[in-house]
Amino acid sequence: MIEVATARPFFGVEPVLNACGIYTDLGGSCLSPAVWEAASAANAAFAPIPDLLDRSGETIAEMIGVPAARVVPGASAGIALAVAACMARSDGKLMQSLPEVHGGRCEVVLQRAHRYKYARCATPAGGQIVEAGGEQGTTQEQLIDAIGERTAAVLLPAHLDGHAGSLPLAEVARIAHARQVPVIVDAAYMSYPTSLLGSYAAAGADLTCFSAKYFWGPNAGGFICGGQELVDAVRMIDFTGYESGRYLTFGRIFKLDRATIVATVLALQEWLALDHEARWVDYSERARALVERLEPALPGAVSTACFTLDERVVDEPVNSLVVTLSDPGAARLAEVLAEGSPPIHSLAEKDRVIFCLETVAARDDDLIAERILSAVLSDA
Ligand SMILES: *Cc1c(COP(=O)(O)O)cnc(C)c1O
Repeated sequence: MIEVATARPFFGVEPVLNACGIYTDLGGSCLSPAVWEAASAANAAFAPIPDLLDRSGETIAEMIGVPAARVVPGASAGIALAVAACMARSDGKLMQSLPEVHGGRCEVVLQRAHRYKYARCATPAGGQIVEAGGEQGTTQEQLIDAIGERTAAVLLPAHLDGHAGSLPLAEVARIAHARQVPVIVDAAYMSYPTSLLGSYAAAGADLTCFSAKYFWGPNAGGFICGGQELVDAVRMIDFTGYESGRYLTFGRIFKLDRATIVATVLALQEWLALDHEARWVDYSERARALVERLEPALPGAVSTACFTLDERVVDEPVNSLVVTLSDPGAARLAEVLAEGSPPIHSLAEKDRVIFCLETVAARDDDLIAERILSAVLSDA
């Protein structure tokens, strides 16, 4: 993580101390020095992009133990491309006509309990979301009913897999595959524990989308993995085909540069080799040190917690400092911190402010403590 004291403004935009965690609109992650160096080397010389994408995809596939993979510009683009690939299935005319489908397959089945923010990413290629089931959940019969002649794929957000009222991935895959319908899984942030990366393909997902921002890769990077035939269909419809193939493919709008491709693969490599246990011990030690430091001035108001990637606050494993203040103290503290210099972005939620340390350089912990103290003391 880049220490905020060493950062500098660009175009007058001040760098922020990000105590929220990994958020696209704060820039995702910071690349490690080694990954940045490789991206810089990739930038320094031209290379044939189709080859770079083929070889980098093979490298990812080998690393996570799946048949095939391909770098894409983020998980949201991955979903759009996966749906496009399932609609066109390497048919050149369709690859070129999307989002116009000429009566072909365009429906993307989603369980009602799986309604979520990024489902919309299934629609740019002409996909239409068809919901299976209702308020009470989705039964096998309802899923079967929702799948028809025009079904291109079933979409399943991995973080909602197994939620109340939904059919689990293995069952969805069984039902869909019996009808020759592929299953697309959005596993954008399911990159830790790292054994999850290859697990969806093993459980029946045909195409799984990951976002590089969650494994400390580029904000505009990600990858798709799955079976060879469908990953090839993604390859056919992506931007490389538009330039060097016979068709003006739909995927032209989702373009990648050399640096992003290289950084995505190398960040994943580092992520797989990282001592994650030590990473979590580090967050928790830092959070406890902050509690100790703040406790005398804020007795009973400071504690530790885990801020999860699906934005819940639970007890363990610790990655955050929590400051609890009676109304309107919490909102006020977050506001004062965000207005200071450097701006500190934290998560105010009801009567508490959460400081997720995953995106904070350890050397900035002191600054967070000082700024909390001065904000709280000047308000008293
Ligand atoms: C961040 C996110 C995405 C989008 O990923 P990008 O790589 O930013 O395009 C999709 N799905 C989920 C669940 C996410 O959290």
